[in-house]
Amino acid sequence: MVNLNYDVVVCGGGIGGITAALAAARGGARTCILEKEYALGGLATLGLIVIYLPLCDGDGVKMSGGIAEELLKLSLKYGPGKIPEVWEREDATESERAGIRYRVQYNAASLMIAAEELLLSEGVKIYYDARISGVERKNGKITGVIVETKRGKQIVLGNVFIDATGDADVCWMAGEDTVDDDTNRRTGWYFSYDGKEIKLHQLTDPLYSDIPEDSRLYSGTNLDDISQHCIDGRKMILEHVLKMRKSGNPDVYPLIIPAIPGFRMTRRLAGTFEFSEELHERCWFTDAIGMIGNWKVPHKRYSIPYRSIKAVKNSNLFAVGRCCCADKSGWDLTRVIPTCAVTGEAAGTAAAMISATGKEPDISELQEVLRKNGVPLRPELFTKVIEAT
Ligand SMILES: Cc1cc2nc3c(=O)[nH]c(=O)nc-3n(C[C@H](O)[C@H](O)[C@H](O)COP(=O)(O)OP(=O)(O)OC[C@H]3O[C@@H](n4cnc5c(N)ncnc54)[C@H](O)[C@@H]3O)c2cc1C
Repeated sequence: MVNLNYDVVVCGGGIGGITAALAAARGGARTCILEKEYALGGLATLGLIVIYLPLCDGDGVKMSGGIAEELLKLSLKYGPGKIPEVWEREDATESERAGIRYRVQYNAASLMIAAEELLLSEGVKIYYDARISGVERKNGKITGVIVETKRGKQIVLGNVFIDATGDADVCWMAGEDTVDDDTNRRTGWYFSYDGKEIKLHQLTDPLYSDIPEDSRLYSGTNLDDISQHCIDGRKMILEHVLKMRKSGNPDVYPLIIPAIPGFRMTRRLAGTFEFSEELHERCWFTDAIGMIGNWKVPHKRYSIPYRSIKAVKNSNLFAVGRCCCADKSGWDLTRVIPTCAVTGEAAGTAAAMISATGKEPDISELQEVLRKNGVPLRPELFTKVIEAT
């Protein structure tokens, strides 16, 4: 079988992968995306997670822009959904925007179609049904990833690789240290229909407190746990539907259920630096590659360091989206859609630069390119500086 060869190989087509591929292609790299499913978006489409959490800090300051903002708008391109008026209006002031968070609810099918259309128009080669099962390495670098296809194994060679699998599969396969979280909760986001109304239900066991006695916790990398999570999630949905039928809505039925399991934190890179929600509020990293707010509470600001998306044992590997390097508290921020887009864009931009020059980008050069592309990088918004070591 002929080997495929790209400048930048993006592994996984969720939000992290879409944004990384877009940034790499726009940076001039011949880019491909390898996705084991048959559509783009990962949890944000196939998992029916259709709420694009805020790009702002709750005080009227836009924290995430660039492709993260472009993607939010793209999610509404084929409707339905609307950006809050004060965030749509360019002349709105921070005080007008304060208290109104820059977030939207979108339709998964519309985003799936729009993201594919955009990536193709930017020259990204998309491979579906391409499950990465291994890597080839030489001299501290990945040289290729092994992909399972209908015609057996195929190797995809590249200069730079971006792990956007959500589960740090490539990092793990490439010998990076990784951290597993086996405390995932039962989830079942789904849409119901009763002949009149289509309704979104966000079923989940509690995230931060005790789970019901008859439930359990799950690892996102163990075969038994993954399978049981799928089964238990569907049972949860069915029980919910049957309960609604009994309580006065006899015609209701499940209209769309998730096509992939709703795991929040599965496995991540254990890199040189762990981003932390608890420790790094209002901290400006001198190697910052993006900024975010806190989706849970207003008045909080964070920057994300380059170190948290760089692999350690493979000089040409990045980890983005759910699998970049963060402690448990930071992971709860890095895993959500806006941050996945921020880390994806940064890694794609850096990867294109590395592929073009053959060397690590100078951080200030990378920051300059990101700024030019609309990524807000504003140290003046922060109160403490942490130097890149
Ligand atoms: C229940 C739940 C509720 C949530 N609520 C919200 C919310 O309201 N708003 C919000 O912003 N975020 C929310 N999130 C988080 C957010 O949706 C996801 O964490 C985010 O979309 C993850 O993006 P990602 O690209 O990192 O990973 P994923 O979406 O997991 O994408 C990874 C992609 O890689 C592919 N892949 C995996 N392994 C391989 C492989 N070996 N080979 C090839 N392809 C592979 C997968 O098929 C997938 O398409 C929620 C998550 C969950 C589970």
